Amino acid sequence: MKGVQHKYPHTVLLLCNEVCGAYCRYCFRKRLFMNDNDEVSLDITEGLDYIRTHPQVTNVLLTGGDPLILGTRRLTQIITALREIPHVQIIRLGSKMPAFNPWRLLDDPELQALLRQHSTIQKRIYLMAHFDHPRELTDAAVEGLECFIRNGVIPVNQCPLIKGVNDHSDVLAEMYRKLSFIGVPPYYLFQGRPTAGNEPYEVPIVRGYQIFEGAKKQVSGLAKRARYAMSHETGKIEIVGVDMKHIYLRYHRAKNPADEGRFMVYHRNDDAYWLDQLVPVDGLGAPIFEHEVETVGAGPE
Ligand code: SF4
Repeated sequence: MKGVQHKYPHTVLLLCNEVCGAYCRYCFRKRLFMNDNDEVSLDITEGLDYIRTHPQVTNVLLTGGDPLILGTRRLTQIITALREIPHVQIIRLGSKMPAFNPWRLLDDPELQALLRQHSTIQKRIYLMAHFDHPRELTDAAVEGLECFIRNGVIPVNQCPLIKGVNDHSDVLAEMYRKLSFIGVPPYYLFQGRPTAGNEPYEVPIVRGYQIFEGAKKQVSGLAKRARYAMSHETGKIEIVGVDMKHIYLRYHRAKNPADEGRFMVYHRNDDAYWLDQLVPVDGLGAPIFEHEVETVGAGPE
């Protein structure tokens, strides 16, 4: 349905806005900003109805675009409506505004009050922040993140691995260290999704794994809680290892329950950027796609 993506059984994305604080050149969602985009819906009535009638949905991610670009009055309508649905426990705000414009929250007492009211001890609001580089963690940005925390929101950070921006162990280590100091756990490092025009920013999987592991070696346990993952059409696939011959992957989240937790082994390919470019080792790789499940009736492994 327009404006809604039922990503995993418990998680729904509400695409409630098609504007960001700035347009990142490496964005994989560029299509949403085109004039003929019909994935985002500014009217979320149908989306709310969908969530209301699906009691398994406990997590709702407000995204788009950037939800914190919306006016506070509009955010109040959306968040209040979501809080009236008893099975919605977690509301996530996917936003790069804390990096682009920390004053969006710092200068808006009404928004602070809204977050305080609806991020309760039983049902939290999470901020899925997006910092790519330690230089973005300016004093104002750190103050802004503290303001989220002070108002009951739990922030985490997720960002893509971008060639020429953060594709260096020292850069990632510095960012992870700083994030851990200010109470923002690194959550995901995403492999860049294949997107038209994004080739200059692509980092091959093997090199990405080496960069990520190199960063983790330099930081404390609290600073290395991120997972290096591909947000593939079949689910979130963690890149868990690389050796001389193989690349080891595991489903962290899977659209198909039969894939949940599935461990996969692929032949090492130092030029590959994405799962679909890898060749599975016989019998040890390849996701189970929906039609195959129906055919073979496979259960979870
Ligand atoms: S803030 Fe996020 S969604 Fe918006 S342009 Fe940048 S990467 Fe894309």
